[in-house]
Amino acid sequence: MSALDRLRREPSIQALPNRWRAVYVEQDAEPDGIAPVCSDDDHEDGDGSVYDCCPEPVIEVPDPHLAEYLAALLNADRGEGR
Ligand SMILES: [Zn+2]
Repeated sequence: MSALDRLRREPSIQALPNRWRAVYVEQDAEPDGIAPVCSDDDHEDGDGSVYDCCPEPVIEVPDPHLAEYLAALLNADRGEGR
């Protein structure tokens, strides 16, 4: 079993949200973090900001491309069918 397979079975990892997005934590020019998708009715789908309504964890990722990539990786790994 690979290290990734072992981690996927960890209860603390399985408890993490399934849908992630790149977000704007400190500035709004480019994404600088990732966070779970917010399900609040007043939070519009395309709004990448982080508000009080948004679930934790918000993770700062200083590289905008890495933030997009990490969110896409998490969504692919934890997506529908798992
Ligand atoms: Zn929100």
